[in-house]
Amino acid sequence: MHIIIIGSGIAGVTFAEKFRLLSVKDEITILTKENYGYYSRPMLSRGFSRSDIEQSIIIKSFGALRKKNISVYESTIVTEIDRVAQTIHIQGEKGAETLAYDRLIIATGSAAFIPPPFRPFRDNFYLFNSLHDLIELRQIQKKILDEKKRATEWAIIGGGLIGCELSSDLAVAGDKVSLFHAENRLMERQLVAEDSLKLLSVMQSLPVDVKFEQAIQSIEKAGDQTKIITQEGHFVSDVVIVSCGFKPRTELAEQVGLEAQRGIVANQYLQTSDEHIFVLGDVAQLPNNKLYAYILPIRNQALWLASYLSGQETACWQPPDFKAVAKVHGFEADHPYVS
Ligand SMILES: Cc1cc2nc3c(=O)[nH]c(=O)nc-3n(C[C@H](O)[C@H](O)[C@H](O)COP(=O)(O)OP(=O)(O)OC[C@H]3O[C@@H](n4cnc5c(N)ncnc54)[C@H](O)[C@@H]3O)c2cc1C
Repeated sequence: MHIIIIGSGIAGVTFAEKFRLLSVKDEITILTKENYGYYSRPMLSRGFSRSDIEQSIIIKSFGALRKKNISVYESTIVTEIDRVAQTIHIQGEKGAETLAYDRLIIATGSAAFIPPPFRPFRDNFYLFNSLHDLIELRQIQKKILDEKKRATEWAIIGGGLIGCELSSDLAVAGDKVSLFHAENRLMERQLVAEDSLKLLSVMQSLPVDVKFEQAIQSIEKAGDQTKIITQEGHFVSDVVIVSCGFKPRTELAEQVGLEAQRGIVANQYLQTSDEHIFVLGDVAQLPNNKLYAYILPIRNQALWLASYLSGQETACWQPPDFKAVAKVHGFEADHPYVS
């Protein structure tokens, strides 16, 4: 059997390694856009305060996976799935190729979500979702330090979990940070009001300048800086980052008629409406309509699917108990997280 996995995040790599342990004979291939290796996405939130991040964030090289007899096509984009022929089309280092699969696992993760009102200004802001994004932002930060001999001034849009983690890390790294939030308290989806207040006080002490109830009208270039225009006036910074949640990468599945809503729709066996295609990780939407977009449940899904596809497990996947915790420097919630 040839199992092809699209994606080299925790979902794809955990599955591949576990399946290889359970089955020595089957062929396993990972296809990925990445070329840095398998890295820890949660560690991106320490990407500015840790100087060794570009090395320490890599959990495993693709070479180490190949030594386990797992084929890895890096710098490769899957452009199309052909469900009838059971093949996929890729564009990679060797140009266009077609590969045949017996089982396909879509573990394509998620991109940063860009709210529709910001889309016309896409050239004027950055996103913070991948190691590629982090490396690009660190290069800008270094350039400002080298050329202007000062710390970078950042404007972060979005006071949710990632926006707060990122803002706190930039402030700890010594940069000047302003956080624009549309609501009137931080992390309102995850925290009770009392903990939002506690978080605000931690953020202000770092210091992060938190601005609430911000209705952003446009994001414009202003020389080599960027201007955020709100109803109240305008605000200039070196870099604007939009951090407003995530969007599962469902496009490949949708192109071939697999049902997708927030994520790719799967049954409790992580199987799509095509019996040969399974989903894992941020992109998987379970029958209770939930996405389990956190490390612990994703790892659990991947280990379960490896056991299931190797014939060692027959019961369906059950989500484990887990708790999401924000990695804001110096903050600990007093109450349980709401979601
Ligand atoms: C800044 C940040 C901090 C986080 N902190 C935490 C935390 O503290 N705790 C926690 O539990 N979770 C955290 N998360 C969420 C967690 O990292 C994700 O839930 C998890 O990494 C998702 O893993 P995945 O394997 O599903 O997808 P991903 O890690 O997104 O991997 C998907 C892979 O698919 C590849 N891919 C996509 N499309 C294609 C294509 N067409 N062709 C080829 N390759 C493709 C991508 O390049 C990537 O390698 C954080 C996320 C971010 C962004």
